[in-house]
Amino acid sequence: MSAVPILEARDLVKRFPSRDGHGAIQALSGVSLALQPGETLGIVGESGCGKSTLARVLLRLIEPDSGTIRFEGADFRARGVADLRRARRDMQLVFQDPYASLDPRLRIGSIVAEPLVIHGIGDRAARRRRVAELLELVGLDPDAAMLYPHEFSGGQRQRIVIARAIALEPKLVIADEPVSALDVSIQSQILNLLSDLKRRLGLSYIFISHDLGIVHHMSDRVAVMYLGHVVEMAPAEQLFEDPRHPYTQALISAIPEPDPTRVRKRVVLSGDLPSPEAPPPGCPFHPRCPQAMPVCRETFPAVTDFVDAPPGAPDPHRVWCHLYPAG
Ligand code: SF4
Repeated sequence: MSAVPILEARDLVKRFPSRDGHGAIQALSGVSLALQPGETLGIVGESGCGKSTLARVLLRLIEPDSGTIRFEGADFRARGVADLRRARRDMQLVFQDPYASLDPRLRIGSIVAEPLVIHGIGDRAARRRRVAELLELVGLDPDAAMLYPHEFSGGQRQRIVIARAIALEPKLVIADEPVSALDVSIQSQILNLLSDLKRRLGLSYIFISHDLGIVHHMSDRVAVMYLGHVVEMAPAEQLFEDPRHPYTQALISAIPEPDPTRVRKRVVLSGDLPSPEAPPPGCPFHPRCPQAMPVCRETFPAVTDFVDAPPGAPDPHRVWCHLYPAG
């Protein structure tokens, strides 16, 4: 790996108190990942697998219980409050629901200008110009600044959310299910906008979704999460062509095959995602895994790095599964 990762996390652990106050919900169980500058890392998994907690922990909107986070090589967890605020200019979060994330009482101009005001950037006139520029950049008329959120469609609102997110010229955007609240017909427009902005502004993305098709379309590399663990990570093409973890194989087998000459064998998983309050011992996937072995019930699998990642890929294809020799 040549470049310093823009973001690197090692062994992140996060537990929340359970609702009855007697136990703990294990949201993250030792997640490690690295994002290279200009890269999009997709994170995929079922609802409840910990991916949204991971997004918030990476930005320190939630503090992890343990683990390290480095942003451009510097210890991000060691930053004090003022320093953290400065650092947050470089990293922004786009939430799922564009309806909930815009204050209905504010005009769009004030919403998009908010980060500039918070960070004391520009005077009134400069901020107005910047807002007009940002609205144009996300494909909206600059006159939209005078209107209120309820005057826009869901897709337009997500454009406004994105304009606000890029107002401070961040280096990293974490997009948490950014299109799942939108009509399918609008989703591709927002995805195209995100791709276009990445190219024009040199952004790096962490792109979180439960939708494998969307993650495939958007990502350079993909991490698959299951019950607070990353279970497989690989360059996107390789993961979708040759998934190695039984959970990834099951997820990918459920995607409709567009090529009628290719037959994909569907792997149907039994049961639901277990509760993170009582994760199964050993490999957390073992109660649903069609290939589970006795060792899977007792021991969490070590990582296997496959050496056949494409040349220049930042990380090899990594799998946490007892089916493969560790190392
Ligand atoms: Fe299945 Fe065992 Fe691999 Fe887990 S470690 S995915 S239970 S084969």
